[in-house]
Amino acid sequence: MAIYVLLGPPGVGKGTLAEMLCAHFGFLHISTGDILREEVRRGSELGRRAQSFMDSGGLVPDETICAIMASRLQEDEVRRRGCLLDGFPRTLPQAEAFDRLVSQGAPAVERVVLLQAGDELLMQRLTARRVCGACRAVFNVLFTPPRQDGVCDKCGGALEQRGDDTEATARARLRVYGQQTEPLVRFYDQRGLVLRVDASQDKHEVRSQVCAALHLA
Ligand code: AMP
Repeated sequence: MAIYVLLGPPGVGKGTLAEMLCAHFGFLHISTGDILREEVRRGSELGRRAQSFMDSGGLVPDETICAIMASRLQEDEVRRRGCLLDGFPRTLPQAEAFDRLVSQGAPAVERVVLLQAGDELLMQRLTARRVCGACRAVFNVLFTPPRQDGVCDKCGGALEQRGDDTEATARARLRVYGQQTEPLVRFYDQRGLVLRVDASQDKHEVRSQVCAALHLA
């Protein structure tokens, strides 16, 4: 089964697209951000090390991320179900480490889906995002508000703002994306793998364009 990389700035909708595709096609969704946030919640050693980088809008060191992904990518389930990588690789050293894992038997990247949108829309989406503290469902107070203010439609849990979705940290994350992650577009373009999608459109339109281009039916 295929491995797809979802690439794009914070707030562009990688997680939303991943969830829609996984629910329909049964892919595994591996989000390094979700893995790290779970470690922070559990108060693990890894979570403690990662937290200050995440709070500042910077990236967690490559070695830490590569160690997590080296074990995840070798899991049988990745090969059996296919997988959407959301948030990895995020730097050139991570992409090179991924190549080394592939040469050691991990499945290779089939396509890279690059979601694109302008910075002002991204800032609006990031600062208006709210996440359910209980079931992790995602809402947006501007674009997809919950029926009742501050309350999750799905489970009734309380909605929270992610610590790194505040104005200053969101701007820092967009800067870090431009400096450290955007170079990956060229890296994968040289292999002819990049599919560009306008992610300022409605999420269902984004999903259907991606499905058509990847021949997912
Ligand atoms: P995300 O949920 O993808 O926006 O990730 C939230 C935060 O987790 C990022 O701002 C980084 O601090 C950290 N993070 C997630 N994935 C990576 C990665 N591949 N490399 C380094 N840091 C990461």
